[in-house]
Amino acid sequence: MEFQQQQYTIQGVDVIQLTREFGSPVYVYDGNVIKQQIEKLKKAYSGVDLKIKYAAKALTNISILKFVRKQGIGVEVVSPEEAKLALRAGFRPEEIMFTPSGVDFSEIEEGVALGLPINLDNLSSLQKFGAKYGDKFPVSLRLNPSIMAGGNIKISTGHSSSKFGISVQQLSEIQAIVAQYNIVVDGLHIHTGSDIKETDAFIKTAQTLFETAVHFPNLKFIDFGSGFKVAYKAGDPVTNIDELGKQLTASFHEFCERYGRKLELRIEPGKFLVSESGTLLVNVNVVKQTPSITFAGVNSGLNHLIRPMMYDAYHHIVNVSNPTGAEKKYNIVGYICETDTFGSDRLLNEVREGDVLAFKNAGAYGFSMSSNYNSRPRPAEVLIIDGQAKLIRQRETFEDILRNQVEIDI
Ligand SMILES: *Cc1c(COP(=O)(O)O)cnc(C)c1O
Repeated sequence: MEFQQQQYTIQGVDVIQLTREFGSPVYVYDGNVIKQQIEKLKKAYSGVDLKIKYAAKALTNISILKFVRKQGIGVEVVSPEEAKLALRAGFRPEEIMFTPSGVDFSEIEEGVALGLPINLDNLSSLQKFGAKYGDKFPVSLRLNPSIMAGGNIKISTGHSSSKFGISVQQLSEIQAIVAQYNIVVDGLHIHTGSDIKETDAFIKTAQTLFETAVHFPNLKFIDFGSGFKVAYKAGDPVTNIDELGKQLTASFHEFCERYGRKLELRIEPGKFLVSESGTLLVNVNVVKQTPSITFAGVNSGLNHLIRPMMYDAYHHIVNVSNPTGAEKKYNIVGYICETDTFGSDRLLNEVREGDVLAFKNAGAYGFSMSSNYNSRPRPAEVLIIDGQAKLIRQRETFEDILRNQVEIDI
């Protein structure tokens, strides 16, 4: 979002105009930003056979999936429903990676039936997979490297007490099951969490993976997952993608030499591709002055954007309809009957009732984590491509709130 002649625009489209056209609150995504982020990754990993799999759970709208597919990358899904959305968006089954976490084996069978490459995250599923399919379908393994990394404990997935992955310390158990059923392990995978800014954490994880990989002779790829940190405000530390790409490429080449064969290097960015593309636009309902705090109450809440309340995520907030107003401190709060704070002690241009506020970095885990709590409808979603704003999800209505509820005679 750019600040031009006191007007906030996305690809030249005035954001206030967007709230008039599509209503408020509304999620708006900038297609150019998604494209740029993909290009950044391609450039950083230019020395290897790179396959990018977009982690669909970050933002799962079918039109976003189609847009991402058009950029020539694959997709990573965590449920059969996400897989079906990806297929519907035009991804071929082999371009999809299915990484479910602790699901019933029937979901894995469903994945196989859909033709998806399967990534298993526990020994019990591996056992069942071997017993049912033997060497008929290759499978990859999600490993847990016993490494603590990530923005905070709630979004860290690679430490030894995390539920994710098969511990690298259980290598001999893995090998026993693989040998018993002749399972073809064609990939190793790791995903250590989100918001990891230290390049070292990724490299350390990679080394652990390489040590394990030499025990699997049929590998086609190694998947380093994701967790790249993006900037939430000016000056925020981020993962240095170029530096990481350079270092990881170098150690990957070294590993491939040792392994005796060139493998595919995969990454699965979610947040990195879509976080900065998204803006949630809301209207200010009420400005409430208490003896100590000025609250700006908006027409949205944790039902639409739960990240601040769920894991203390920071979303930069801008008053886009009063860009020259005198700056003042505000607590920006939602309308949900629960503590519902988007940001405290934020310096904003004077906020008046009716103003439009923009929440930045709302592309990833915004709409996809939204709910109907307080029986409130979810917002519309809009994608901007080539300077054109296109509606990609209708705003929900009261009918949507009632749908699937069964009204019995009482
Ligand atoms: C969520 C997830 C990702 C994406 O993580 P980001 O931090 O959004 O980039 C990648 N791989 C797997 C297996 C995931 O579950």
